[in-house]
Amino acid sequence: MTDRRNDLTAWDRDHFFHPSTHMGAHARGELPARTIATGEGVYITDTQGKRSLDAFAGLYCVNVGYGRRQIADAIAAQASNLAYYHAYAGHGTEASVTLAKMIIDRAPKSMSRVYFGLSGSDANETNIKLIWYYNNVLGRPEKKKIISRWRGYHGSGIMTGSLTGLEAFQKAFDLPRSPILHTQAPYYFRREDRSMSEEQFSADCAEKLEALILAEGPDTIAAFIGEPVLGTGGIVPPPSGYWSAIQAVLRKYDILLVADEVITGFGRLGTMFGSDHYGMEPDLITIAKGLTSAYAPLSGSIVSESMWQVLVQGSDEMGPIGHGWTYSAHPICAAAGVANLELIDELGLVGNARTTGAYFRKALKEALGDHAHVGDVRGDGMIAAIELVEDRDDRRFFDASRKVGPAIAAAMLERGVIARAMPQGDIIGFAPPLCLTEDEAATIVSVTADAVKAVLG
Ligand code: PMP
Repeated sequence: MTDRRNDLTAWDRDHFFHPSTHMGAHARGELPARTIATGEGVYITDTQGKRSLDAFAGLYCVNVGYGRRQIADAIAAQASNLAYYHAYAGHGTEASVTLAKMIIDRAPKSMSRVYFGLSGSDANETNIKLIWYYNNVLGRPEKKKIISRWRGYHGSGIMTGSLTGLEAFQKAFDLPRSPILHTQAPYYFRREDRSMSEEQFSADCAEKLEALILAEGPDTIAAFIGEPVLGTGGIVPPPSGYWSAIQAVLRKYDILLVADEVITGFGRLGTMFGSDHYGMEPDLITIAKGLTSAYAPLSGSIVSESMWQVLVQGSDEMGPIGHGWTYSAHPICAAAGVANLELIDELGLVGNARTTGAYFRKALKEALGDHAHVGDVRGDGMIAAIELVEDRDDRRFFDASRKVGPAIAAAMLERGVIARAMPQGDIIGFAPPLCLTEDEAATIVSVTADAVKAVLG
């Protein structure tokens, strides 16, 4: 076993091109790379036997926690009964049809159909194509631009990487591409004019959006995409009044709304969907992660009934839609999705995200809210972040070269808890499995407080 473990480290270093990784540092063996072996509940264990409490649920995705027999069994049964059949030309499997029904039963009222993909990125690629198709059917070929927010995260494809508003995902790849535009992030803590109230800042975001629409020409703007809670861009819940102010502008200019619920779908905010939580009325909803709790890769674009009617008209005029993936609605992934959604209901995880999430965020605030270098403690449901600052009074940020966020995440890992140093700013993010208990929440909070103290005093 020891030999094998050594082999794995060498094979990893020499052959595995990892996503979102400093390639040179990894190849030189400078990263504390881990080979993960097992998972149980909120814990993972590596090949060296070190156990960590995963307070980020992988990448905000293992919502039901690790080691769920019910999902593993459903995957095994599907693999032996029917490992694959495609979904083209109206074909379905028991698992994919059942899952489509379960998703629409849980989605906001106006939604009626789901198109399956495999990742959040490809689901957003589908959304972009559906938006363009929609406006072509309606005879509006100029109405094609899509507005996203700076700090939004919508994927790593060419168009979805363009929607993403983070420099690390764009600069080295000549992104963003046309016709993608960006507007102000709803990041109240980082607002320029600190005298603004949350409502004033929301109105300011809506005014900036409207100014962009008018400058570009409303007849050229097709859609606006946003995560109910900004995720990878810093874990930022919207300031009060944000979504109603934004939606008023979108309605005025006949612009579609895409709610990217890859993180927030299926319970993370203590409601089944973030759209319901914040009163959003989207035309499209992106889902992935929590749909299967990452037991198998699966995503979806949920389409509203009114948009669906236009898409149907398109196929009556042009024939079958020329957009499909081999693995759309893959039965093994769909079976994982069915078992996962059943488990979420059986265990009452949406309610637990609300109650234990509130306990966790309150404890985080009590432990760290007054620390001289903690500028903000924020979150909603079972997602939270702390943002570190050099000076609280004038909200001065640390120089990025000091890598304060990564140092705190590393100190936490040493103490047995995985949190994420978010990619832009000194922000520590938390998105634990929705099955978190109060005891586990208390462990995360005390380890975080310890680590902040160890790094910043
Ligand atoms: N949208 C959001 C809001 C996300 O958080 C992510 C992934 N973090 C994606 C889209 C892309 O999903 P994937 O990595 O599965 O392509």
